[in-house]
Amino acid sequence: MSVNIGGQNAIILKEGTSRTQGREAQHANIEAALVIAESIKSSLGPKGMDKMLVDGFGDVTISNDGATILDEMDVQHPAAKTMVEVAKTQDDEVGDGTTTAVILAGELLNKAEGLMDKDVHPTQVIDGYSLAEAKAIEFLRKIAIKVPPTDKGMLKKIAEVSIASKLVSERKEYVGDIAVKAVLQVADKTGTGYAVDIDNIKVEKKPGGSLTDTILIQGVLLDKEVVHPGMPKRVENCKIALLNCPLEIEKPEFDSKLNIDNPEQMKRFLDEEEKLLREMVEKIASEGANVVVCEKGIDDVVQHFMAKKNILAVRRVKQSDMEKLTRATGAHIITNIDDLKASDLGRAKLTEERKVSDDKMTFIEGCKDPKALSILVRGGTERVVDEAERAIHDALCVVRDVVVEPYVVVGGGATETEIARMIRKYGEKLSGKEQLAVEAFADSLETIPMILAENAGMDPINSLMEVRAKHQSKQRWAGIDPSKGKVSDLSKLDVYEPLAVKIQAVKSAGEAAGMLLKIDDVIAASKSREGAGGPKGPKDSAKEEGEGD
Ligand code: ADP
Ligand code: MG
Repeated sequence: MSVNIGGQNAIILKEGTSRTQGREAQHANIEAALVIAESIKSSLGPKGMDKMLVDGFGDVTISNDGATILDEMDVQHPAAKTMVEVAKTQDDEVGDGTTTAVILAGELLNKAEGLMDKDVHPTQVIDGYSLAEAKAIEFLRKIAIKVPPTDKGMLKKIAEVSIASKLVSERKEYVGDIAVKAVLQVADKTGTGYAVDIDNIKVEKKPGGSLTDTILIQGVLLDKEVVHPGMPKRVENCKIALLNCPLEIEKPEFDSKLNIDNPEQMKRFLDEEEKLLREMVEKIASEGANVVVCEKGIDDVVQHFMAKKNILAVRRVKQSDMEKLTRATGAHIITNIDDLKASDLGRAKLTEERKVSDDKMTFIEGCKDPKALSILVRGGTERVVDEAERAIHDALCVVRDVVVEPYVVVGGGATETEIARMIRKYGEKLSGKEQLAVEAFADSLETIPMILAENAGMDPINSLMEVRAKHQSKQRWAGIDPSKGKVSDLSKLDVYEPLAVKIQAVKSAGEAAGMLLKIDDVIAASKSREGAGGPKGPKDSAKEEGEGD
């Protein structure tokens, strides 16, 4: 595209650039976003379906997790990508509610389209939505139920609801129990409450066995074997040395020559080297260590001497695992062997190499009050283990959410219906077009109970009407019970969810909808051509075309 400026033809947009504007641009973006929301609708809730995703290499993922499904879908359209971002943000911030957030964003856009068709200006829609969003968050806080942050019973219910919609739902009690124990164990007391870093819970998965072989380890599980066959495979009452220096004689950095004239000299040289290595082991043993975890390599000779002293050692352990080991065993990481003191050693009841499926793993367990833990996830096939890992991730996140911010709301669409009612009431005070947008926001929230009903084989419209009516007559927690296929009080069924998850879903959906509605011009450069000269960056090709004119 070029224009004439002062008698000269100036290139504004390079050739091949496509441009859509105004309503057309908005319409195209909304359509693309809706496709994404539509594609994961059927996976919402305990009766939601799973998706099977096959990638370019034929690898299969089976999942019900919104973030995972969208991540695997390899979405191209920029507006559709925004929806994928919604799921990602939701996952990063609170770990659950990804499908909900995407569905909500889709419905906000859908309703916005309807309003714009009725000549409501996008800015009015955006303003109305942002008013409604702020109110939604205010009302959510208002209706939330405060719970004790370490109430195991409540935390288990929360964990089970998040697992209920996953492939592994039959084992939700078992898995939920592990999640609650793990989070409470690693929680750190702060001035006013608790802080929880989920990264202190290491989740390792190995296909094989069954889901109920999944275990919580009071310590750290290393995907490593004991380094030398002569070493013990099991050590009790461990005193653990954590080293991040190599147990080797470091090779000179430059090529260097050593002149040896006779065998005598050679022997002396080797003896000297052996002596240094032996001293390393002597030092470790003299401080009382019987387990060595090393981030770097361990020389064969050192391994041999360690084995003689009944020391168990693993090498090339990841830095993140070393850090977890300090939190679990109380050991200090040592960078120079000479500095090692008995007081730097960590404690664990047992260190043992065990065979898990076909691999050997080292369990460092029975730590006293460990602030880092491991979960070993087992399950029949690789796909089951993968989805189980995702379910455990969600469960750990929701439990953390409540421990950190101890408020819950009720699921099954009860919360969404209740705040929709409150938002509508608030909207009555507003004028004209703003009110329309606020109402549209409230209606969008109610798609959650509708889809839950639809996925459970219930009539979505009738079910919503029934839920709404109950809310009108002050039954705050009326919602959809998908297992019975009817409307009931979900608080009586113990369907609780973290307040943080619902707040974040409203925020991320509102943000994405607002962002897409603000766009009225889409300018897309043509894909850079990959000619004989190899791929060209956009800058190069633009320059070339400029010169051609
Ligand atoms: P998300 O990715 O949004 O978490 P899910 O597939 O996990 O999606 O479904 C979550 C929805 O299912 C929430 O609205 C939650 O309240 C609802 N839900 C989960 N378990 C139950 C249950 N037992 N009864 C009713 N609703 C439930
Ligand atoms: Mg969920």
